[in-house]
Amino acid sequence: MELELVTIGNELLLGFTLNTNAAELARALAEAGVRVARHTTVGDDPAAIEAAVRQGLQRSGFVITSGGLGPTRDDVTKRSVAEIFDARLELDRGYLKELERRFKGFGIGRMPESNRSQAEVPRGATVLRNPWGTAPGLWLEGPLGGVIMLPGVPRELRGLLEAEVVPRLQTRAGERSGRVTRSRVLRTTGRSESALADTLEGVADRIAPLTLAFLPSPEGVDLRLTAWQMGQQEAIAALAAGVDTILPSLGACYYGEGDIDLAALVIDLLARKGPRLAVAESCTGGMIGQRITAIPGASAVFVGGVVAYSNAVKASALGVPEALVEEHGAVSEAVARAMATGVAERLGAEASIAVTGVAGPEGGTPQKPVGSVWLAARLNGREKVRGRVFPGSRGDVRLRAAQAGLDLLRRLLVERNGPESGEQP
Ligand code: AMP
Ligand code: MG
Repeated sequence: MELELVTIGNELLLGFTLNTNAAELARALAEAGVRVARHTTVGDDPAAIEAAVRQGLQRSGFVITSGGLGPTRDDVTKRSVAEIFDARLELDRGYLKELERRFKGFGIGRMPESNRSQAEVPRGATVLRNPWGTAPGLWLEGPLGGVIMLPGVPRELRGLLEAEVVPRLQTRAGERSGRVTRSRVLRTTGRSESALADTLEGVADRIAPLTLAFLPSPEGVDLRLTAWQMGQQEAIAALAAGVDTILPSLGACYYGEGDIDLAALVIDLLARKGPRLAVAESCTGGMIGQRITAIPGASAVFVGGVVAYSNAVKASALGVPEALVEEHGAVSEAVARAMATGVAERLGAEASIAVTGVAGPEGGTPQKPVGSVWLAARLNGREKVRGRVFPGSRGDVRLRAAQAGLDLLRRLLVERNGPESGEQP
């Protein structure tokens, strides 16, 4: 089954409301085996809504709209769609009674007159009950095809989608084809999007008809493999084969699947192996500690951290020799090493992470441009140190540095003997 989405609202066109409904609808429909062929966004304008829905019906025979079902003057979706179906609006007395009853329950006295309009439904429409709000969803079918109208408020849209829309569409799509769209996401960090693209050159042909999407962020690059419109078992098997094809090329930059968080993974590895963790942070100012402590159960492995921003604190709190800072600079391999050793000793931990860098926008030099970061990790006396120059804003550099610090310790934790092969330092 295939359909089009029409999201409605001036605020969407102005950019003040982020169109999360389109994303939410698309994800839920793909899971249900419904292919979204096109999104259109229009303002709260009857002519624009009518045109967009008509065109969607002509192309695919089925349209889902979101927005414009509220009680105010600018909510015109229902009328515009009813027009297409030549359906008069009629008062649904049952729904009116329910609305009045619910307003009594709110304890605010009589229902405002404007809400009465929400009980008017196009003749022949199926009313989809909306216990999360006052505007019901509406399902209209006719010779031109079908239109489902859903409210714009995300919580109501989500509720109606799960309770009323997906089950019915699933039955319909299943009866027609039994096909679904499924994805798996492989998370990587420490390798750029273009380097990964080079590594995976030629893989696209081997995994076809699966598609491969590169999704870069400051935390790394996620690889999304998608099986489109396949039988459920066939999709699961194709994705498993696709993952098996790709994983060997990724090496150590792959750290997990789905929405796994690197900090949670590091804590899990530490908890299984025993060492306790301390962190020493300069340019990340506590971001690594924040990410670690955001994970439930962190207390089992995390002892604490030091935000050592000035050279004086690097010396007094971590024991980094002042001579070292003078000779190599605060952003240097030697200082990162000394920070990792110092924090592990002083806080009594077997594992540590240290970060020192130039987050910018000022403070860069030709030798150490903005984005230069030295990272060190220690684990039971073994050590890994890396120098990187991260791109982006001050915020990006800090996010990337925190992720890279966690990643360095992860690599120590998963590595068996000595340095991994094929990875750049
Ligand atoms: P409406 O039903 O058009 O009156 O929308 C009610 C509220 O839902 C708006 O004020 C927005 O906050 C929100 N909303 C409407 N459309 C969307 C959308 N496509 N994505 C996210 N939120 C939306
Ligand atoms: Mg509105």
